[in-house]
Amino acid sequence: MAKPPGGNELIFRVAIPAPFYRLFDYLAPAETGPGPVLPGMRLEVPFGKGSKVAFLVAITQHSEFDNSKLKRVTRILDDEPLLSSKDLRLLHWASSYYHHPLGEVFSAAFPVSLRQGKPAELHVEKCYALTEQGKTIDGNRLNRAPKQKSVLEKFQCHAGSLSETELSLWNENWRPAVKTLVDKRLLEISKPDAAPGPGLLTRDSALQCNAQQQAAIDAACESLGQFAVFLLEGVTGSGKTEVYMQIIRHVLERGQQVLVLLPEITLTPQLEERFRQRFAVTIAVSHSKLTDGQRQNAWLQMQQGVCSILLGTRSALFTPLRNPGLIILDEEHDASFKQQEGFRFSARDVAVVRGKLLNIPVLLGSATPSLESLHNVDRRRYHLLHLPERAGNATAPILQLLDIRNKRMQEGLSEALIEDIRKTLARNEQVLLFLNRRGYAPTLICHGCGWVARCRRCDANLVIHYDESLLRCHHCAQEQPLIQRCVACETGELTPLGLGTERVEKVLATLFPDRMIVRLDRDSTQRKGTLENYLQQINQGCVDIILGTQMLAKGHHFPNVTLVAILDVDSGLFSIDFHAAEKLAQMIVQVSGRAGRAEKPGKVIMQTRKPEHPLLTTLIRQGYSDFARTALAERKEASLPPFSYQALLRAQALDNKMPPLFLEAVGKLARQYSQGHIQILGPVAAPMTKRAGLYRYQLLFQSTRRQALHALLDGLMPEIEKLKQAKKVRWSLDIDPVDLY
Ligand code: ADP
Ligand code: ZN
Ligand code: ZN
Repeated sequence: MAKPPGGNELIFRVAIPAPFYRLFDYLAPAETGPGPVLPGMRLEVPFGKGSKVAFLVAITQHSEFDNSKLKRVTRILDDEPLLSSKDLRLLHWASSYYHHPLGEVFSAAFPVSLRQGKPAELHVEKCYALTEQGKTIDGNRLNRAPKQKSVLEKFQCHAGSLSETELSLWNENWRPAVKTLVDKRLLEISKPDAAPGPGLLTRDSALQCNAQQQAAIDAACESLGQFAVFLLEGVTGSGKTEVYMQIIRHVLERGQQVLVLLPEITLTPQLEERFRQRFAVTIAVSHSKLTDGQRQNAWLQMQQGVCSILLGTRSALFTPLRNPGLIILDEEHDASFKQQEGFRFSARDVAVVRGKLLNIPVLLGSATPSLESLHNVDRRRYHLLHLPERAGNATAPILQLLDIRNKRMQEGLSEALIEDIRKTLARNEQVLLFLNRRGYAPTLICHGCGWVARCRRCDANLVIHYDESLLRCHHCAQEQPLIQRCVACETGELTPLGLGTERVEKVLATLFPDRMIVRLDRDSTQRKGTLENYLQQINQGCVDIILGTQMLAKGHHFPNVTLVAILDVDSGLFSIDFHAAEKLAQMIVQVSGRAGRAEKPGKVIMQTRKPEHPLLTTLIRQGYSDFARTALAERKEASLPPFSYQALLRAQALDNKMPPLFLEAVGKLARQYSQGHIQILGPVAAPMTKRAGLYRYQLLFQSTRRQALHALLDGLMPEIEKLKQAKKVRWSLDIDPVDLY
């Protein structure tokens, strides 16, 4: 690189993906490519004893260090920056808002393989499609070659072509059968689906919308090409996805791209298929089940503008868009949009800032909007689009409380509920039972002496997993064989206490021996493809009773389910976290939404010992919106978010004494820096103090003035790093925490 006049060398200021708040200076590399060197480019730099991939932030002429002390950039990895200048601004903003090191924020914006310095090359994949003959041939003619038959049918019920990635996700051993079908001229190698631009955008036609859907579509479409935030509040089954798709169509007509963010679990092949049925353009997908290479490809396709729609989870938020047109965030209330470790950003909040920087609309959708978003509607920052009714002929489910005080129960099922299940099954309809606890039972206790099986590394009981003959800690994943005899008294009989899904599954199997029961939780769906398989069986009507955890609460359609039961609603009523009521209400409404999606009316039963509890009665009599209004009024009364702003400093260490010492030192510093208007609460022990062998404490900052809070943290963060106690703990700062544990 040419030296500037005066002979001074140029200094490259870089962000390094490591927990340092400062930037690092390097001498310009010995060689650069033909084009200009610009911020955002990836560089390889020597660091410590090895080297790292870093991100160029600025080129300057002066360093506060003497040039002789500076090392030289090894090489420049990109010919041009992969992120636009607006997206670079977004990363700078996020780093300063979340008080998180810029290098780590940069790193979060790139897929793993690019973080490691791999070349930003798009791997062009082969695509396959049906030939004319393949489109019409009857799959049964391949009955003697089941693998070929299943591949053919996959293509026949899929609109358009399928890429190698899509085929691998569907079935890892697709190659031999596809090759044979190509030889038989039933399949052919084809071009990928259309890139953005003029041409065929959609395949099937849109549904005829009702008035409310149309009003929502019109309002959003009027704002295309400019920044606005819409909150689409639509009851479950109100046709939000249809609204998204019709708005997307307008964005595609403008030659622009759409980023659709979803919680991990709702990004099912069914949803993907719905999008592919509708749109003839290239659709990329990005979520945790894909390989690094597949995710890099999706990222680069959007970056290069060869793909029009990206369906992705939280980490897809930063994907660069060549022609950005719209960001949609579905199930915006979902906790999984908040990253809970490292760079703890809220994908929802950052999406809104990104929309503003890119000057495009942002659409947040939910049946149970977060209190934050409703508050933003009240403050006229977001526009409310309301879909109060189910679309088509579907009717809303009826919610009922079932008082189980003093009632006879069989492993968590009251007799009244069992009777209802029986009746529903007799009508050939499906039943869905919800219990948010995995395993057989959450506690193993000795009937002789009261000893309880505890995790040695956590303040928690070990959970019984009978199927695997294990005791497992759900907080640190530690396992041990299921013991037969009490360790303390050696004679007492060990008794399982409480209910988990495994236990309910067993009692269901004895109560309904001829019925097909499927349990859906993290344990039963660990293997790739299992969940999809079960969902398919459910939709084909082979399953009678579906039992599961919150995995069920999200997104799925079970059109033949007419009875939903929440087995233990009470356990959600007694949390000390002020977010708990909101989360419980959202969970109840979301689970209820699985009932009666088709034309059959649905019923929801909640077993409770607290039938007078205001949260439950408000929800049942008045619905989620009224519950949310009441909850917001309570938050306001108590000056809790969204009427104030919080930052939580967490610290943990092997030594029980270190975290409080560190947090006390921080608290003392904070009081010196504080200009008032800020409450500093703690340090206190975290509700689960010991976890995975570490003792955890926290210090809470709270203020009704966001700026005052951030000004304090700006001054404080560099000082915290310098504290001698900081070296003896692991600490992290969580801005706008959603989980106070
Ligand atoms: P949501 O995302 O709000 O839960 P969906 O968009 O998935 O709802 O729609 C629920 C069901 O209603 C789907 O089967 C969809 O095809 C159907 N649907 C949506 N809009 C209409 C409409 N205008 N007329 C008829 N059916 C509709
Ligand atoms: Zn005992
Ligand atoms: Zn543990």
